Amino acid sequence: MNVDIIGGGLSGLSSAISLKEHDPTIHVTVHEKYKTIGYNYEGRRCAEAYGIHKSWVKWNPDEKSIFNKICKWELIIGEKTLIVPLSTGTQYILNRQEFISKLAQEAENLGVNFMMNDKIRSIRNLKSDFIIDASGCPSTVKRELGLPQGLVGGTYQHTIEGSNCFIRDTMKFYVTKEGGYYWIFPRDPKKREVNVGIAMYGSLKHNLKPLLEKFKLEQNIDGQVNYIVGGLVPLGIQHPLRYDNILFIGDAGIGAGVVSGAGIHRALISGHIAGKYIAKQSANKYTHMIKKMFRMEDMIGISYIKINNFLNKINPNLILKIAYMTYKSLNKTVP
Ligand SMILES: Cc1cc2nc3c(=O)[nH]c(=O)nc-3n(C[C@H](O)[C@H](O)[C@H](O)COP(=O)(O)OP(=O)(O)OC[C@H]3O[C@@H](n4cnc5c(N)ncnc54)[C@H](O)[C@@H]3O)c2cc1C
Repeated sequence: MNVDIIGGGLSGLSSAISLKEHDPTIHVTVHEKYKTIGYNYEGRRCAEAYGIHKSWVKWNPDEKSIFNKICKWELIIGEKTLIVPLSTGTQYILNRQEFISKLAQEAENLGVNFMMNDKIRSIRNLKSDFIIDASGCPSTVKRELGLPQGLVGGTYQHTIEGSNCFIRDTMKFYVTKEGGYYWIFPRDPKKREVNVGIAMYGSLKHNLKPLLEKFKLEQNIDGQVNYIVGGLVPLGIQHPLRYDNILFIGDAGIGAGVVSGAGIHRALISGHIAGKYIAKQSANKYTHMIKKMFRMEDMIGISYIKINNFLNKINPNLILKIAYMTYKSLNKTVP
């Protein structure tokens, strides 16, 4: 069997590894439009917050892939600050480029074939038995086929070096009334680097750049801005998950958490499931398995946005409850 994977990001690499682990005889090719994996623009997002559960140890980052272990969140809502302690070792700030490079090395060791500088312009050029679309958001394959891209939000972020607000073990979230949040995350401790960003759910009508500048002034955040990034964040599952012999994974199919914007774990898990079920000749189970894994998380997220829009105000206790429910809903074993 031959499988073509479009995209060498987290989801593409996870699916490549999974295919080979479940059936080493499958010919797997990853097509990546950049000339390197990991150390390219797409491999370098600002935030990189990554939470894992006990059953997901398969994707535990190693020392080099971790900037910081996070012990608590501070949730700031208006005048109120809620401290949420986390059990140590479950939440990290990743050195994402390093993390992706390690996955690529693992895939290569398993015999995955890599085609770099290879932007797939049309799936008609691929003749394999299965295609895995791991091209991110918006999905290039869905665009070609005229399939819906689903609900998206926006994000805009600065990485700031030598900052006065670097706290190594704490992530801060400032919840907004407009439906979204700002954050301050600690990045490279050697540089006292922080990520400061804004994310808005479900609406792209806000201009995020001036909002972030205003936030930085209000919070008196100083330091040298050395990296800026922004982009689309798909919110929740982006149907369809499968179309003929094409499976959509990561941002192209599973999207990020509706409230949290966290997509790293979803990219890794969906890639793993896609690879496993293709290898077992039961790709038709992929949609069902993904829904089982993420439907509850998405339902909680979408309900939160609807309630918030309806009440047009933020209730700190409701947010904590949602965060807890989402966390519980995710505590599942990966199929
Ligand atoms: C600015 C920003 C910050 C984020 N911060 C966080 C965070 O802190 N925590 C978290 O959990 N999630 C975060 N997310 C979400 C998370 O990054 C995504 O959910 C995750 O990267 C999805 O992985 P992916 O492999 O599916 O897609 P991507 O990471 O988008 O990778 C897609 C890959 O496909 C390649 N590609 C695209 N088109 C083609 C083509 N036609 N041919 C060949 N190759 C192609 C790209 O070059 C890229 O390597 C953030 C997202 C954004 C936009």
